[in-house]
Amino acid sequence: MSNFVWCHGPSCHKSHTQDRIRGVKGSKVLRTKKVPVTEYHRNTMYSYFCSQGCYNDFANKYVREVIAIAPRTEALETPIEVVKEQARDWSGRDYMETRILTVDTNGG
Ligand SMILES: [Zn+2]
Repeated sequence: MSNFVWCHGPSCHKSHTQDRIRGVKGSKVLRTKKVPVTEYHRNTMYSYFCSQGCYNDFANKYVREVIAIAPRTEALETPIEVVKEQARDWSGRDYMETRILTVDTNGG
């Protein structure tokens, strides 16, 4: 059972860092980094990428394919109620506060 995945960054193996160097003198390579599988990173992008940079490289390269999974063809809307209330700041001055309340549309 492996406890790592290879970083999915398309250029991970091209970054000039010492921790990517593998091989012996005369046949050295820069290798894709291993990403440890941990409970802490489960279901986050850090389960698949060694860094924010590698994640951005992947997202920029495959953005069309990713968007095709769940394309947005129309705007979404969240029902709200706008409430204006008199409030007082830390120094005792009164001001009008605008609060945006989400309206429960599920009847619960
Ligand atoms: Zn990487």
